Amino acid sequence: TIILAFESSCDETSVAVVKNGNEILSNIVATQIKSHQRFGGVVPEVASRHHIEQINYCIEDAMKEAQVTFEDISAVAVTFGPGLVGALLVGVAAAKAIAFAHNLPLIPVNHMAGHIYAANFASEIKFPALALLVSGGHTELVYMPKENVFQIIGETRDDAAGEAFDKVGRVMGMKYPAGKEIDQLAASGKDTFNFPRAMEKEDNYDFSFSGLKSAFINTVHHASQVGEELNKADLAASFEQSVVDVLSAKTKKALQNFNVKQLILAGGVAANQGLRKQLDIDLAEFDNIELVKAPLNLCGDNAAMIGAAGYVGYKHQNFADMSLNAEPSLEFDWINE
Ligand code: ATP
Ligand code: MG
Ligand code: FE
Repeated sequence: TIILAFESSCDETSVAVVKNGNEILSNIVATQIKSHQRFGGVVPEVASRHHIEQINYCIEDAMKEAQVTFEDISAVAVTFGPGLVGALLVGVAAAKAIAFAHNLPLIPVNHMAGHIYAANFASEIKFPALALLVSGGHTELVYMPKENVFQIIGETRDDAAGEAFDKVGRVMGMKYPAGKEIDQLAASGKDTFNFPRAMEKEDNYDFSFSGLKSAFINTVHHASQVGEELNKADLAASFEQSVVDVLSAKTKKALQNFNVKQLILAGGVAANQGLRKQLDIDLAEFDNIELVKAPLNLCGDNAAMIGAAGYVGYKHQNFADMSLNAEPSLEFDWINE
């Protein structure tokens, strides 16, 4: 089964060709980051225009690199939410056009399910599984009793983890998105600031990062008022450790209470080295739970992960018709058994 997959929910235009949900024949990712950086974040209108300009080249490149023709394609999969409505519409329109023209089934994919299924390229996902899903817009613990059932057991009450990285990075004068740069800086620093670990001890699986963000900003502003020079690497390390500690604590609590075969780490922030190392350590405490981390190059937005999730939809014949529309606020409950 060969799936042509589309992703355009935010600022990456991506088209991939994926075989049997676990083999990447091609994965073209055209990023627009440079166009958004001067605004300090993604500008929706700019994103939509870029997608329109890029999508046809991405389709051509993806098919060429995979060495396939439309005759080889079994189905078309596309992210239809959550994300920016104008951005999503470009991918949805392109996928519908190709499905219609070549009489192929159209598989609607939830972007967040796509992030989770990126892990399938590292190791076959086995159920029941728990996913720690950390990205620019989401921070969730998702329990998956089987392959197409998603239950959010905990989530952030305010900022997403990636959003906190980006906001804190902005205060440190870094370019958007700042997650990777903070991560690299943190590697040479120490947790000397001891920022708050919000909700770490609370009896739930929820997170909060806005207090940490405020504590960080107050520390930096206060230092600049009194003319004190702060160690940037230590600042980065302290911030990152605080994020990692709460993600780790709530994940361990969930692993104690849910009987799962795997812990899946996915989403853009899953690329974080501090987090990857901490979960390696944590999982050593649990016998018989395998840690499956999304491959580093597939943590951020890409269409290969949509092809992997789309394969599950294909197996369940979860097809859409030509009335498929973008759903900017899509949640997990669209998937039925
Ligand atoms: P969502 O998937 O929730 O709709 P999104 O698609 O914008 O949001 P992703 O592309 O999944 O988000 O992830 C991007 C986020 O990942 C950014 O906030 C970025 O700073 C963060 N990020 C990337 N690499 C790292 C890293 N090494 N450490 C921490 N954060 C990182
Ligand atoms: Mg992005
Ligand atoms: Fe994403």
